[in-house]
Parts: sequence; structure tokens; C-alpha cells
Amino acid sequence: MQMDLGMRDEARAMLDEVRAMVRDEIMPLEAEYAAEIGKGDRWQFTDRQAEILEGLKAKAKSRGLWNFWLTEGEGGKGLSTVEYAYFAEEMGRTPMGAEVFNCNAPDTGNMEVFARYGTEAMKARWLAQLLGGEIRSAYLMTEPDVASSDATNIAMSCVRDGDAYVLNGEKWWATGAGDPRCAVYIVMVKTGGEDRPKHQRHSMIVVPADTPGIEKLRAMEVYGHDDAPHGHMHIRFTDVRVPAENLLLGEGRGFEIAQGRLGPGRIHHCMRAIGQAEAALELMCRRALEREAFGKPLAQLGANYDIIAECRMEIEQARLLCLKAAWMMDQGDARAAAPWIHQIKVVAPRVALKVVDEAAQVFGAQGISQDVPLAAMWTHLRTLRLADGPDAVHRRQVARAELRHYTQQKV
Ligand SMILES: Cc1cc2nc3c(=O)[nH]c(=O)nc-3n(C[C@H](O)[C@H](O)[C@H](O)COP(=O)(O)OP(=O)(O)OC[C@H]3O[C@@H](n4cnc5c(N)ncnc54)[C@H](O)[C@@H]3O)c2cc1C
Repeated sequence: MQMDLGMRDEARAMLDEVRAMVRDEIMPLEAEYAAEIGKGDRWQFTDRQAEILEGLKAKAKSRGLWNFWLTEGEGGKGLSTVEYAYFAEEMGRTPMGAEVFNCNAPDTGNMEVFARYGTEAMKARWLAQLLGGEIRSAYLMTEPDVASSDATNIAMSCVRDGDAYVLNGEKWWATGAGDPRCAVYIVMVKTGGEDRPKHQRHSMIVVPADTPGIEKLRAMEVYGHDDAPHGHMHIRFTDVRVPAENLLLGEGRGFEIAQGRLGPGRIHHCMRAIGQAEAALELMCRRALEREAFGKPLAQLGANYDIIAECRMEIEQARLLCLKAAWMMDQGDARAAAPWIHQIKVVAPRVALKVVDEAAQVFGAQGISQDVPLAAMWTHLRTLRLADGPDAVHRRQVARAELRHYTQQKV
């Protein structure tokens, strides 16, 4: 079958608008937005911060530059996953980018869940507001006491009691749960015992963030950064009661939902990581040309030509792999696409981290300071080697798919 990795003209016109908005309107406000964090309560938006973010969102929405991630159904732009890859790359250039266009994690994954598996009542209450960018959401799977890269270990108890379920346990690294706008959680819980097959013991349940018994214990820090005002929260659930109808699809179907949720979410992270790599390479090249040492521009010193060339080549390889994974997803067979998503989930953060690190080196000391975005980029990209599954888990899946060609047995 012919593999088309390009885009339609109408998509290209929209992409040009997104690119212009990212460069001309969002990036110039980045530093001011970041400087507002910590003026007063770190977990609330200052008036100026809200004005910047909501102002940009309103502009994007009014221009129809909104919800590009929604490849199927109402409210999206009908983009293929391949086309969306180019958009996500542009948005990835700036930390605010994805949210301005309502394409941010973990909300897009959660919206997919509501759209695919939610009841009409959930769609009316949660999906509509998420699609409108009015509230935010979090996805709570990982737990402090179990190795959560193996999701069959998830232990939060969820017991039926009359017309409700009662939840007890702890979750951590709940991205976005510190955000004052975060109104709803999708929570992976254990509903079945040892008598059930391993992949039918878990369920997903929708929990309003203001339900009694929910306690935010602390914000987890990434190399000392709390990512306020969104955060990655450590949360305790004590006798949290939610109506039984909040359970998605039915008891024991959590893995089915997780598979549907994580595929697109993972590739979106990769697309944005490639955008960050491009942004870092651009910074590196500009700096290497304008700054001089030993009588020459930095670009001409030592191995800097080679470094720039290697970065360019690795970005191109990663982008092509990402586009192939996106194309596989567009063919509609999630199982066939999975090994490609696992590959790019390892490759994209690795390549982007390398480029960002080389860019910081070319910058000199300023490269790892607060004056340029490279340090923040590196920190964020490093987390991607863990979030949505550590590298080792993805490599294992790639190897299993590879070995399956040579054996009838399950490896
Ligand atoms: C910034 C950030 C944001 C996050 N956001 C969220 C979120 O919003 N919601 C959420 O639920 N979680 C979130 N996470 C958590 C993340 O998904 C988990 O940390 C990840 O799945 C790994 O689980 P774990 O930390 O329990 O590591 P473990 O399961 O304890 O694994 C530790 C290590 O063991 C090794 N290992 C594991 N399996 C294998 C294997 N098969 N082969 C070889 N080695 C292996 C790997 O080296 C792995 O890194 C986030 C994490 C970070 C850092």
C-alpha cells in the first residue's frame, strides 16, 4: 500500500496559521507567563497569567485553530494522525503551545476516553467543557507502592457499596491535578481479585476532583521543579464515594480503555518532542553563528559542524519514524500500529534530549540557565523517558513484536 506522509492543502493552510501564531504571538509571551508563576500562591493563576493564557486561547478558538487532535467525530478538523503530527510539532515548540490550541495532555487522552467510552451524561458534564477548554482533567494510574510500569500491579481498591463505589488508596504523578481548573479525574482502580484473568481485574472510574475524601498530599518535583500551577500530584483517597454509573464500560474493562487512551497520547508526546528538538536546533544554529571565540563564529570551531549535522539527521530520522507510526494508526488497526508507537516513544525523547543537550553546550553556561528555554526543555523531555511507560517497557514490546516473526509461541 502506498504510504502518504503528506497533508491536504486545507490542512496546510491551517498549519501555516498555527505556525505564525506560535512564533508571533505565543513565544513572545512565554517569558512573561513563566515569570508570573510564584507571584503569590504558586497553585493559582495570577491575573496576568490568566489574561495571557485565556487571551491566547480565545484568539485560537475564534480563528478556528482548536481541537486539532480530534481526528474523528464532531468538533475536530478531520485531520489524519499524519497531518496532526505536523501541528503537534509546531505546538511543541513552546510550553504553552498545546494548551493554547486545546491539544494538551492529559486532557486530549481523557477526552478520547469520554468520547469513546463515556455515557451521554458524562459527555454532557465533562466532555463538552473539556472540548471548550473551560476545565482541565487528570489521569490517575501510577501508585507509589507498586511498580506501575506493569499496570496489572495497580492496587487502588474500588468496592461496590449499594449504588456507589468506594475508593481507597494513593496515586502519584497525577499531571495537571494541581491546576485550580482541574475538575475531573479518570482513575484506574482494582475491582477484581485473583479469580479473574490478570487483564480483567482493573477498571476506570470517573471521579469529580472535589469529591469528599480526596486529599492532595504534595506536588512531586521533577529535578526540583513542581511544574506549578499544573503539577504532578500525590493524592490520597479515603473512602471516596462515587456513583456506580461513573464506572466506564463496566468492571474489568480498564485495560481495554487504557489501550485506547495511551496510543494517541504517546504519539502526541513524541510529535511535540520533535518540535522541541527543532526549536533547540534553531537556537543552537543562531547562537553558533552570532557568537565568536578564538576569532571565529562558534559554528566553525571544533566539531560543531558535525554536531549540527548529526542533530539535523537524527531529527529527520525521528520525524520519519513518527510519521510512519502515525500512518499506521491511520490504517485503523491499533494492534498493528502498536510496535511503531513503542519505537517512536523510545526514539523521540532520546533524540530530542540529545539535541537539547548539544544546544545547551554550544550556548555555554547560559544554556543551562533560566535565560534560555533549553534547561526547561531538557527537564521535560527527560520525564518522557518515564511518563506513559519507561523506555524499557516499550523496548520489550518492540522486541516481542520482532521475535514473533520467528516463532509461533508467544514470547
Ligand atoms: C513528569 C511525569 C508525569 C507523569 N504523569 C503521570 C500521569 O499523569 N498519570 C499517571 O498515572 N502517571 C504519570 N506518571 C507516572 C509514569 O507513568 C510512571 O512513572 C511510569 O509508568 C513508571 O512507573 P513507576 O514509576 O512505578 O516505575 P517502575 O514500574 O517501578 O519501573 C522502574 C524501572 O524499572 C525498569 N523496568 C520496568 N519494567 C521493565 C521491563 N519490562 N524491562 C526492563 N526494565 C523494566 C525500568 O528501568 C523502569 O524505569 C508521570 C511520571 C512523570 C515522571
